[in-house]
Amino acid sequence: MSMKVLERLGLDRHPRVVTGAGLKPGTPGQVVVTNPANGEAIAGIRLDDAAAYEKVIAESQEAFKRWREVPAPVRGQVVRAIGDEFRKHKEALGALVTLEVGKILQEGLGEVQETIDIADYAVGLSRTLSGPVLASERAKHRLYEQWLPLGLVGVISAFNFPNAVWAWNSMLAAVCGDVTIWKPSLLAPLTAIASNEIAERVASSMGHRGVFQLIIGTDQEVGERLVADRRVPLISATGSCRMGKRVGEIVARRLGRTLLELGGNNAVIVHKDADIDLAAKSILFAAVGTAGQRCTTTRRLIAHESVVEELTKRLVNAYKQISIGDPLSEKTLVGPLITPAAVEGYFTAIRRAKEEGGTVLIGGERAAGMSKGNYVMPAIVRAPGSNVLPIAMEETFAPILYVFSYRTLEEALALHNSVEQGLSSAIFTDSVRTSEAFLATSGSGSDCGLAYVNLGTSGAEIGGAFGGEKDTGGGRESGSDSWKAYMRRQTVAINYGSELALAQGIRFGE
Ligand code: NAD
Repeated sequence: MSMKVLERLGLDRHPRVVTGAGLKPGTPGQVVVTNPANGEAIAGIRLDDAAAYEKVIAESQEAFKRWREVPAPVRGQVVRAIGDEFRKHKEALGALVTLEVGKILQEGLGEVQETIDIADYAVGLSRTLSGPVLASERAKHRLYEQWLPLGLVGVISAFNFPNAVWAWNSMLAAVCGDVTIWKPSLLAPLTAIASNEIAERVASSMGHRGVFQLIIGTDQEVGERLVADRRVPLISATGSCRMGKRVGEIVARRLGRTLLELGGNNAVIVHKDADIDLAAKSILFAAVGTAGQRCTTTRRLIAHESVVEELTKRLVNAYKQISIGDPLSEKTLVGPLITPAAVEGYFTAIRRAKEEGGTVLIGGERAAGMSKGNYVMPAIVRAPGSNVLPIAMEETFAPILYVFSYRTLEEALALHNSVEQGLSSAIFTDSVRTSEAFLATSGSGSDCGLAYVNLGTSGAEIGGAFGGEKDTGGGRESGSDSWKAYMRRQTVAINYGSELALAQGIRFGE
């Protein structure tokens, strides 16, 4: 099965991909991609070293000099053609995402669709990039802002969105006139090779070689080199808070720019007047979808004391019906975790939750009947009466939902905002007053970058700016004015008169 998926994308013949008899785990300079659904090796990937890195930088710099001269709407036409090519390869790429990281096929396809959507969005953007014309205080002066291409953009991506995270960055960067250097997770290099080749092939065929670059290597050899490189003005990094703190520090030392999209610890508040049916369905998808491996996964449920029992009962019943298994099967709703280490992380969190007084209502064990692969049973853990459960303050990248109850909305909001991360948040209520308290313009409600009413925490649309506050890193990607991160702003003043007029009315030597 895995060979067929590789063949559909030409990866079986790719010079840096080793399959079949040539695949020998432990070969120096190579990483082996393992199928999380069965533990089998899929392929070996040759890693880049320092010399390969320098070559990529040199090519990127040359490509940037050419690409920035191409008018933005023409750059948009290249991105349009890339989006079309992704449409053609959607099925094969979606299956590759599933094979490599274990998300169910529907979600693998959804991820590629996100790439297609952001390409469409970028095409429109290519004709609307603009800056304001401002009122000058001086006679016969014109004052305006223009946005210019930034240069080389380093994109570091997490394993769990092996295609879309790159696209959110690179499609926008491309219409902005930049060259992207993508350093993917070593847990998902095959999707990266296939995706980057599609983009680069299309761009090259239209006369624009080198706009989409890929570098695959270890964090020590390649990752940190990229992060520390002054020739790369922007580092857009998606991953854990631990990684973001390290990357942020290195880039800050050279006064470079970062766009950080880091971990979340997202909660749903369910108020006493909520539609419980809607809440239960939404929480189910947001808590167990992608086997709890989304940055926006719902990890905490904060339910009013009058609805907590009923809601928890419904969720436990729903969890019992979930089909766990082969992510390529149409029936499956929950696939495997990415690695055996992630399974360990799940068990450690469950053990700690019990030690801290939590009650495991369902889950907490390996998924029944799955002898191979990294499968766990999604868990629901009820916090002890006092509501204190330190493990719930951390992001465990696995399907564990911690349930808390509250009396007053103030209490719920305080609990909601008490974690270090600030990515996604949601409230279920039929009351305008309650939802407005959650969204208060004073900022006293949700402290997250994403705030939803009557929908779950995951599944963002591309049109809005995506990202979060606090330890989530503060970056914004995808829609709205996120494109500004990929350009540099220049304020321009033109004197079209013949007098020297100084700002602030200063007279100098008259
Ligand atoms: P990770 O932090 O282990 O790795 C992410 C990427 O950073 C990988 O490409 C890795 O190789 C690279 N990296 C790590 N250390 C580095 C260093 N010192 N220098 C350069 N590169 C380095 O994360 P992961 O396990 O792949 O992904 C899961 C995490 O990502 C979760 O915390 C999740 O919440 C987060 N995430 C956030 C978003 C978001 O948009 N906010 C999206 C997806 C995932």
